Amino acid sequence: MRVLVVEDEKKVARFVKRGLEQEGYGVDMATDGVEAEEYAQGREYDVIVLDIMLPKKSGLEVLKLLKQGKVKSQILLLTARDSVEDRVAGLNLGADDYLTKPFAFEELLARIRALTRRVSQGSALLKFADLSLDSQTRKARRGSVEVELTLKEYALLEYLLRNPNRVLSRTLIAEHVWSQSFDTETNVVDVYINHLRNKIDKDPLKRLIHTVRGVGYVLKEEEA
Ligand code: CA
Repeated sequence: MRVLVVEDEKKVARFVKRGLEQEGYGVDMATDGVEAEEYAQGREYDVIVLDIMLPKKSGLEVLKLLKQGKVKSQILLLTARDSVEDRVAGLNLGADDYLTKPFAFEELLARIRALTRRVSQGSALLKFADLSLDSQTRKARRGSVEVELTLKEYALLEYLLRNPNRVLSRTLIAEHVWSQSFDTETNVVDVYINHLRNKIDKDPLKRLIHTVRGVGYVLKEEEA
């Protein structure tokens, strides 16, 4: 799951970023409206947390442009407690939810989870062949074997399961599972793919995670 946090108050932004990363989300940050548009149009985000009061361009202007541009991300607005007008304007412009400042991190997390559940149409279970991943328990299952995953393993497997039969480059995987500052020269993606293989893809005759040489990985069933 990737989240873009747009907030010019550095303390709030850092606090949100750190909290979401601890929950296994990949998080990018933008600090003004123009930067927000560049990020949102350049990459895919599951959720965009968008402050209304921003330098250069307001959150409402950004929201309007993104909705016109058919950006698919769920958009959660951050509004001042007393600005009912902003909230109404935001919802009219197509915001998916809003949260008034100041907020507790747990509340933000609950809203983001609700929005991403909406995206996956209420299903807590991602499935491919005999592999499944439960977003409630955060456990994977391969055949009849249940497996515990670390946060990053979970995030990586979730990304693969959301994109079956699609070749995913190392860069794309790194961008979705880790953060924007992530150094794609490192072999972290390969290391985590190996962790996953050891947990859920051990049988060489029933491989689901395949290496695409020089590119990345694809989740697919072996052709018979
Ligand atoms: Ca602000």
